[in-house]
Amino acid sequence: MTTIPARNSTREWQALDRAHVHPFTDHAALHKVGPRVIARAEGTYLYDSEGEKLLDAFAGLWCVNVGYGRKSIAEAAYKQILELPYYNTFFKTTHPPAAELSRTLVDMTPEHFTHVFYGQSGSDANDTIVRMVKSYWNLKKQPKKKTIISRINAYHGSTMVAASLGGMSYMHELADLPLPGFVHIRQPYWYGEAGDLNPQDFGRLCAKALEDKILELGAENVAAFIGEPIQGAGGVIIPPQNYWPEIQKICKKYEILLIADEVICGFGRTGYWFASEYYGIEADFMTLAKGITSGYIPLSAIMVSGRVAEVLTGMGDFAHGFTYSGHPVACAVAIENIRILKDEKLVERVHSETGPYLTKKMQEFLNHPLVGEVRNLGLMGAIELVKDKKTRQTFDPVGDAGTICRDHCFKLGLVMRATRDTMLISPPLTWTKADIDEWAGLAKQALDLTAKDLGVA
Ligand code: PMP
Repeated sequence: MTTIPARNSTREWQALDRAHVHPFTDHAALHKVGPRVIARAEGTYLYDSEGEKLLDAFAGLWCVNVGYGRKSIAEAAYKQILELPYYNTFFKTTHPPAAELSRTLVDMTPEHFTHVFYGQSGSDANDTIVRMVKSYWNLKKQPKKKTIISRINAYHGSTMVAASLGGMSYMHELADLPLPGFVHIRQPYWYGEAGDLNPQDFGRLCAKALEDKILELGAENVAAFIGEPIQGAGGVIIPPQNYWPEIQKICKKYEILLIADEVICGFGRTGYWFASEYYGIEADFMTLAKGITSGYIPLSAIMVSGRVAEVLTGMGDFAHGFTYSGHPVACAVAIENIRILKDEKLVERVHSETGPYLTKKMQEFLNHPLVGEVRNLGLMGAIELVKDKKTRQTFDPVGDAGTICRDHCFKLGLVMRATRDTMLISPPLTWTKADIDEWAGLAKQALDLTAKDLGVA
């Protein structure tokens, strides 16, 4: 019943891709090899257009939390399309899926969140938060409070505002970013940047960088601080335990709004429904996307705290919204996806069974000559490849080892992502111990082949 033309040829799809489409790409480099065409998926496996099977240790792009091929999600979408495929929530109207999902989200997120605003992506959700933050301070009659502090190597999306919030210099260079009013402080990357400091001292130092920046700019000019509880795209950077409590204290002390970008961490990835719970973060805003629908359909949600919502909802017209804010089909899919996560106790499983098991299996990699550090929280982990384990010396140029290893993974039938020379894992939350064993076997082979290529014994 598919309406996609049955071309049945990898070459033809590659040609269409080459001619018309492809995000986040060095086009010249891609055209030399051509993209792999992923044709279908089931459970935790992808199948390409040549029929090859791949173990997806990256849940698509950190998002397919309930795994592929869920019929009940397809049925929820189908039913909703027949019932009400579209209606807006602009002009004094709403519809059951948006209203129901909002209640579900308010009930499942930390208690102080009372309101929800919907978008289509993590990027537009973060854009929206920036508009809300600025409106908030205008309404509080502190119109100078406008600068937003983020971190180097953070990822918050690809629109002009979201990429300004992000701290990826190569993304800034592309389009004269960051926009005015966005500044960045150091990241809490212990393995890469702490030198001789223990995690506690380093956590304190990185949090102090926020206080220093606030004092430099003047608290009266600073609107908000944004951070991913655990940086994802930056390399699964898990901050020292004292970092977030210190950040929280500083935000309170200087009256700075706190934004927790949970686009990756949310919906069970870390073994907690939200990583804010693990770190005791009480943010004013929480950005949600990806796992909210397990990627089956685009949807993002911004959770707004009661104290901020009270100000914003009292302002008259908040002239902001998207045609697809709270899209009924996306909300119906989210409701079913959350039901699956709950009924199958997937978050609990990650917390008490598969997360700790992944830790154990990853620790075994520490004996490998290439591996300098392993770290994970729940099913979100990183393996650092280094030239010298004792000195933590990186390869030169940084990134080649990661690319070599990622390519070996692909050839072995495993999808992992490389950020610099760090191999990242973020599988569906449906993974069992047996899936982790299969992953560990393939990853070990990829590491061995990479070590051989790099001449490391
Ligand atoms: N925030 C974080 C933490 C992300 O990881 C991402 C995407 N990887 C985004 C925001 C942007 O989301 P999207 O790609 O849906 O715009």
